[in-house]
Amino acid sequence: MTREVVWDHGVSLPGHRLWLDPLVVRSFAFISHAHTDHARRHKEALLTPQTLALIPEARRPRGWRMLGYGEAMRRGPATVTLHSAGHMLGSAQLHFEHDGTSVLYTGDIKLRQPGGLPDTFVPKADTLVLESTYGRPHFRFGDPDSTIEAIARWCRLALDSRVTPVLLCHALGKTEEVMLALEQYGFSFALEKRCAPCARDYAAAGRPLPEWVELNGEPVSGRVVIAPPVGKDEVRRLGRYRTALISGWAKDAEFARLFGADATFDLSDHCDFDELMEVVELSGADQVYTVHGYTEDFARSLRKRGIRAWALEANEQLALAL
Ligand SMILES: [Zn+2]
Repeated sequence: MTREVVWDHGVSLPGHRLWLDPLVVRSFAFISHAHTDHARRHKEALLTPQTLALIPEARRPRGWRMLGYGEAMRRGPATVTLHSAGHMLGSAQLHFEHDGTSVLYTGDIKLRQPGGLPDTFVPKADTLVLESTYGRPHFRFGDPDSTIEAIARWCRLALDSRVTPVLLCHALGKTEEVMLALEQYGFSFALEKRCAPCARDYAAAGRPLPEWVELNGEPVSGRVVIAPPVGKDEVRRLGRYRTALISGWAKDAEFARLFGADATFDLSDHCDFDELMEVVELSGADQVYTVHGYTEDFARSLRKRGIRAWALEANEQLALAL
C-alpha cells in the first residue's frame, strides 16, 4: 500500500494525502522547486526555504512548512526527507519512508554539477518517480565544465570583435547558474528585463551573483547579455550581436532551429539520457514511474534493461495498484 503511486494532475501517494508538484490546488503539497509549472496556491505546501524565497508573493501557497536538505519530517506514521536535486537553487528530491519501504520523487533533477562539485546525491528507494524530460537516447550532453569553457570562449570572441554576445537562457534558474559558472572568466553582465527580478530574487535567497546591470534599450558594450529564448525585441536593439541558445534542446536540431540562434550549447539543468539511467541505478529502485517529457520512451528503455517501469503521466487518473 505504501508504494502506491497515482497520477491525477500531479503525483500522489494516496494513502498519505501527500501530493507532489500537483497542477491543481491541494490541501498539502510538496513543491519541488520554484519554476512556475510547479508552484500553486496550495493550502499548505512543503518546500525548502530557498524555493519559498524564489516564488513571487502573488503565487505563494497560503501556508507552508519549510524543510532544509537532510532534515526529517514526520507525516503521520511516515518520514519525509528532502535532498538537493541539483536543478536550481532550492530544488529538492523528496524521500518518503513508511513501514520499511520507500519512494523517491526526484522533481526536476540534474546529476552532473559544474565547477568540480560532486554529483547530486541520489538516496536509495524501492520505488522511483523520475522526471524524464530528456528521456530519449539522442539527448546526450557534453561535460558541463567543457561546455561552460566553450561558452566563455564564444563570448570572448564576440566581445573581441565588438559584437555583443547574447546568451538565451530561461529567466529563473538557468540565467543565474550560467552567470555563476561564467564568473571565473571575469565577464560582467547585462540582463534583459524578464531576467532581472529573478536575479535579484536569487541573490536575496542566498546566492550572490557576479556584477550585472539591467538592459534599458541602449546598446551595451563589453558585457555578456542574457535574455529569455523567446521574445527578442530588446535584443534586436543591441546593434551588432550574436545569439547562443543554452539548453538541452540544443541536441534537437528542429527545436534549436525554432529559436533561430546563431549557436547552441547543450548545457542543461536536467539530466540527459545517460544521467537518467544513472539516477535509476543509484536509487536501486526495482520499479520506476516516469513523469514529464519523453515518459513512454524512457520507460520503454528501462524495460529493455529489465527494470519494471511505467509512464505515469500517460495513465492519467489511473491508479496503479502495486
Ligand atoms: Zn524546473
